[in-house]
Amino acid sequence: MLQRDIIPIFVKFMKEKLLGKNPEELKSLVAELGLPLYTGKQIAQWMYVKRVRSFDEMTNISKAGREKLSECYDLGTADPLGYALSSDGTKKYLFPVKESGTAIEAVIIPDEDRRTLCVSSQSGCKMGCRFCMTGRQGFHGSLDAADILNQFISVDESEQLTNAVFMGMGEPLDNYENVSRAITALTAEWGFAWSPKRITLSSIGVLPYLKRFLDESRCHLAISLHNPFPDERLSVMPVQKAYHIEDVIALLREYDFSGQRRVSFEYTMFSGFNDSKRHEDGLIRLLKGLECRVNLIRFHKIPDFPMEPSPDMVMENFRDRLNAHGITCTIRASRGEDILAACGMLAGKHNGQ
Ligand code: SF4
Repeated sequence: MLQRDIIPIFVKFMKEKLLGKNPEELKSLVAELGLPLYTGKQIAQWMYVKRVRSFDEMTNISKAGREKLSECYDLGTADPLGYALSSDGTKKYLFPVKESGTAIEAVIIPDEDRRTLCVSSQSGCKMGCRFCMTGRQGFHGSLDAADILNQFISVDESEQLTNAVFMGMGEPLDNYENVSRAITALTAEWGFAWSPKRITLSSIGVLPYLKRFLDESRCHLAISLHNPFPDERLSVMPVQKAYHIEDVIALLREYDFSGQRRVSFEYTMFSGFNDSKRHEDGLIRLLKGLECRVNLIRFHKIPDFPMEPSPDMVMENFRDRLNAHGITCTIRASRGEDILAACGMLAGKHNGQ
């Protein structure tokens, strides 16, 4: 029997996961099991505040209650399969995804007193950006809220995390319901109680869900732009056909980014493709009047994609010119390249310890 035949049978017998559920949902499921209603609130505290990784650790719930829970439900935590450590301190974890029989990556990026978690939202990706290793491997399924939250709970640095960026594998707005559920658990008082300012979601601009994200959350947003000209952007990002970057920018102009919430644009620099003065001018025109910043990203070469990274000097000049035109622009430091953890390099392959 092929692996693809086994997985659906396996999934049928998998228990429902609790991670990602809110206290009301937990209350109704404990009621169905005949447990006291306050057990729902206790489970939420154990999962999101104390971040335990098994029902056995929920010591204020009766032993019989814990047994019933584990008979019927899965908490939703999973140990990493391993990790790889970069010479710059970046650490890349590999986590299993039971439903698809695949693996996803989560990356810890330490920077002075910050510990940022780069989170995956899907196993692989449908969007097919030509310069991205994740896009190359195809799509193997969206993560549920438990698999997303598990990345926060099951890394060794869980207690030290200061920020999170949804910039790992997958397009978060192609899995909006589960990403939104995870963000709710991260920011709710009953959950991790993080400020939304600690979270940035990165998207290539899936318009219908982008609008919902902007309306329903207060987290920061990063848009993968990479080229200001529609036909050139389309040549490396098929999404441009369905959701035009001009329409994405028009939508952003309806929201206020002058206060607590920020929007930034990711711009990976390819030599001779998007790093000319014409592109600087195009970007300046496209973003005119929008309160935003631009992050220039050094391209990390991947197999079978012919483009080369722009030279440092070209990137610096590009940055300086945007700044001179009033667009805050920085060059993002490249992290974790030696363990294939840098932007565009995540592929869900076990190459670590
Ligand atoms: Fe998917 Fe993002 Fe890679 Fe594009 S860049 S293929 S959206 S993971």
